[in-house]
Amino acid sequence: MAASSSSHALLVQQPLRPSSPLPCKRTHLVAPLRLKTRLATISCTAIQSPLVSPSVATGRIFNFAAGPATLPESVILKAQAELYNYHGSGMSIMEMSHRGKEFDAVIKKAESDLRLLLGISDDYAVLFLQGGATTQFAAVPLNLCAPGDSADFVVTGSWGDKAFKEAQKFCKANLIWSGKSEKYTKIPAFDGLEQNPDAKFLHICANETIHGVEFKNYPSPSNKNKILVADMSSNFCSKPVDVSKFGLIYAGAQKNVGPSGVTIVIVRKDLIGNAQPITPVMLDYKIHADSASLYNTPPCFALYICALVFEDLLEQGGLAGVEKKNQKKAGILYDTIDESNGYYVCPVEKSVRSLMNVPFTLKKSDLEKKFIEEAAKEGMVQLKGHRSVGGVRASIYNAMPFAGVEKLVAFMKDFQARHP
Ligand code: PMP
Repeated sequence: MAASSSSHALLVQQPLRPSSPLPCKRTHLVAPLRLKTRLATISCTAIQSPLVSPSVATGRIFNFAAGPATLPESVILKAQAELYNYHGSGMSIMEMSHRGKEFDAVIKKAESDLRLLLGISDDYAVLFLQGGATTQFAAVPLNLCAPGDSADFVVTGSWGDKAFKEAQKFCKANLIWSGKSEKYTKIPAFDGLEQNPDAKFLHICANETIHGVEFKNYPSPSNKNKILVADMSSNFCSKPVDVSKFGLIYAGAQKNVGPSGVTIVIVRKDLIGNAQPITPVMLDYKIHADSASLYNTPPCFALYICALVFEDLLEQGGLAGVEKKNQKKAGILYDTIDESNGYYVCPVEKSVRSLMNVPFTLKKSDLEKKFIEEAAKEGMVQLKGHRSVGGVRASIYNAMPFAGVEKLVAFMKDFQARHP
């Protein structure tokens, strides 16, 4: 990397250790950055071995956080390189109008890439919204139900429970199954579900982030409208999904596809336009669909990062390959737990274990704190289970490299040997 004494150069040099090469998946030369009168180039050298710890070269660590979560390194580096002067515009993407040509290209590409990734047909609107998935807990019933209408909820964890409770304010929400008494470790058999024929939709949380329970297939809604709604916040774009099975899918971006601040809603177009009169404009899908997600100022920078992630997923060959990688990562982690002779325990029923969030406990629970602290010293952070359930949780979203999970399982085996 060319040295520069310009203060602007710090913007690109600061996050790196002096003289360390920028790691990236592919060797490439990032476009020259003009720094006043000097010209600096950033060259990237490829990491040859998947086992090289990111911390060795760059100070980056393996981040097992549940969200906001780790992002693809190539995306962070691209954003870094483009940050100061976006595509020669003389300003960063954060500083420009959301109605200008540069941002218009970003949001359009984000939508078309996402449509490609998930095979979303023209029957569906793709909305980039704000307020997190939590806002959708209210927006969904407000848009899909008249005040007296009913909706069915299958609750397989804390997030589904929150969605159910919020919906009660805006419709008649029926709890048709709850896994609470079994500590949210299961998903029910679909044929035993007593769905209400009048329900406007059937709601599920496709992956419960705290409890690590994931639907591997989906129930068919038997309500007369045949509408299935899913919160896919924590497994969005982790595998192919047949969108046509759903009336509506929503997801906060901050696990698999970007930073916090963007919430994605994929909704069948014929379901748009019947929001309850009290619906705030910001929660009305029609307002956002009619204005192509630009009714008000969107979270421009966060959306730009999502666009880079979608592009990266397409460059990886799409979601079928991404799912295989996720299966491989989760596989070695669950195997390590199951082969530990009860030293580590994952409470979730095997057939519905999440590929994204792996919760486990130690038989000797007093060792959990030590486990988490020692792992952090080894460069593996954010392994503490959610405050409501305790234990350990490894979130291994798309962007967690295989090497990160390999390092974690090696640490787990070593920890077990040292603390029998
Ligand atoms: N649903 C699920 C499955 C989640 O994991 C989360 C956040 N962890 C939420 C909803 C709430 O999302 P937000 O914080 O974006 O409102």
